[in-house]
Amino acid sequence: AKIGGKNRNRFYDPAMSRNLMRRREIEAELRAAIQRDELAIFFQPIVDLDSGRIRTFEALVRWFHPEKGELMPDEFIPVAEDTGLIVTLGNWITAQAARTAVHWPDDVTLAVNLSPLQIKAPGAALGILSALRDAGLPPSRLELEVTESLFLDDNHATENFINELAAAGVHFALDDFGTGYSSLGYIDRFPFSKIKVDRSFVSGPKVGRKSEAIIRAVAELGAQLGMDIVAEGLETIEQVATVRAAGCSMGQGYYFSRAVPDYIAATLLAHERQP
Ligand code: C2E
Ligand code: CA
Ligand code: CA
Ligand code: CA
Repeated sequence: AKIGGKNRNRFYDPAMSRNLMRRREIEAELRAAIQRDELAIFFQPIVDLDSGRIRTFEALVRWFHPEKGELMPDEFIPVAEDTGLIVTLGNWITAQAARTAVHWPDDVTLAVNLSPLQIKAPGAALGILSALRDAGLPPSRLELEVTESLFLDDNHATENFINELAAAGVHFALDDFGTGYSSLGYIDRFPFSKIKVDRSFVSGPKVGRKSEAIIRAVAELGAQLGMDIVAEGLETIEQVATVRAAGCSMGQGYYFSRAVPDYIAATLLAHERQP
C-alpha cells in the first residue's frame, strides 16, 4: 500500500466510502430487521464475586442478518443513534428483555443499555414504565446502564428522566466508567446504585499497577457511598482475583460467560439454584 503517495486523493477515500455505503445499507435494513425478526436479545451474567452467584443479566442486542451473518451492536447501534432509529429499537429491546426477565427468580435483575438519544425522546420515561407494566416486571428489577456521555449536554430532560424512573424504583448504573469525562459530580448528583469500571482497566496493554490503584480507589468510593462496583471484561481467573482484591463486589466477562440466548440464561440460573 502507498502511504502518503503523490497520487493520494484527499477527496476520495475508498475505505471511507465503503464504510459509508455499509452504513447506508445497515440503516435501510435496520428499519426492517425488527419486523423480520432478525434481532435477538442475548444476556450476559453479572456475578457476585463473593458467592459466585448471578445477580444480574445485561441485555445485549444481536442482529442475525440473512446475508451479512451475525452483526455486533458496535456496528449498528451507532447507525441507529445517528438516524434516530435507536428510540424505536431501544423500546423494543427493553420490552423484549423485560418479557424474558419476568421468568427469572425475583432477586435477579435485568440491566438494559440506554443511549442518550433515547432519554431525550419525549415520553421516554413513561415508555419504559409501560414496557415494564406490559411485561409484568416490577421497576425495581430493572437497572438502566448509562454512560457519562449522557451528561455532556447537561439538560433538564436527562435529570427529569432519571429522577422520574428512580422514583418509580428503577436502578441506574454508570457504564464504562473511566473512559469518558469522568466526573465525581455525576455520582453525587444522580442516584446511581452501581459503577461499572470499563474493561480497559482490567485487560489490555495499559493494565498495571496504576489501573489497579484506580480500581481500588473507585471501589473504596463505592463502599463509602453504598454502591456496587462491577469490573467489566474479566477473562481470566487472575483478573478476577485482582479486581476482587481491589474491592470490586461484582464481575462480568468471558471468564464467567459470554452473552447467551434467553434459554441458556434460564439454564444457568436453574443450574446454580439446584439444591
Ligand atoms: P457495553 O454496554 O460496555 O457492553 C459490554 C460489551 O463487552 C458487550 O459487547 C460484551 O459482549 C462485551 N464483553 C463482555 N465481557 C467481555 C470480555 O470478557 N471480554 C471482551 N473482550 N468483551 C466482553 P457487545 O455485546 O458487542 O456490545 C457492545 C456495546 O454496544 C455495548 O457496550 C453497548 O454500549 C452497546 N449495546 C449493546 N446492546 C445494546 C442495547 O441494547 N442498547 C444500546 N443502546 N446499546 C447497546
Ligand atoms: Ca453496558
Ligand atoms: Ca460497559
Ligand atoms: Ca462499552
